Amino acid sequence: MKVKKNSLIQAHQKKLSRCRLCPDMVPPVIIGQAVNSEILLIGQAPGDREGDLGRPFAWTAGKTLFKWFESIGVDEETFREQVYMSAVCRCFPGKNPRGGDRVPDKKEIKTCSRWINKEIELLRPRLIIPVGKLAISQYLPVDKLVDVIGQSIRKKVNDIDVDLLPLPHPSGASTWHRMSPGKELLAQALDLLAQHESWKNLQR
Ligand code: SF4
Repeated sequence: MKVKKNSLIQAHQKKLSRCRLCPDMVPPVIIGQAVNSEILLIGQAPGDREGDLGRPFAWTAGKTLFKWFESIGVDEETFREQVYMSAVCRCFPGKNPRGGDRVPDKKEIKTCSRWINKEIELLRPRLIIPVGKLAISQYLPVDKLVDVIGQSIRKKVNDIDVDLLPLPHPSGASTWHRMSPGKELLAQALDLLAQHESWKNLQR
């Protein structure tokens, strides 16, 4: 059963890697490891460095994100090997002429959602970690981050009962997680994550 699921995940990733459905997105498709995990991390979209480095959260935001996880006992290598890393959009959206990366538009988000939906169907996760407002807003109504960070919310996602444990985006451009109340709420979220059964089950 486990072997069959692994090969289904690999086949899914092979198909995903060839996706060119969005004309304004910049390939390659960035994909994490084909892990049969009960934890699914969902980021926003890759930045411009991830294409060369070939993995999600490979640059500065990733350094911060993995520092957070390291603080609760899981290093980057262990995380990448045991947690399925997904994103709202899997290709680099390009630069925003006004600065930073372009935020994927509604059509691109909808188009790319087929891939996450397939991953949820295959993995049947117990814990979903949406990172940043765009990812969080796909699963929870969110006006302000203070309303959701620091909470674990049980919800049905695609007919599966999951715990949603949102994190702020670790981007260097954001100061939210470095200042009060973001700093304290992030610490609260990481505490909850450290106590979650699925997190405790990671092999280190
Ligand atoms: S963003 Fe998603 S749907 Fe669009 S081309 Fe990339 S993988 Fe395909």
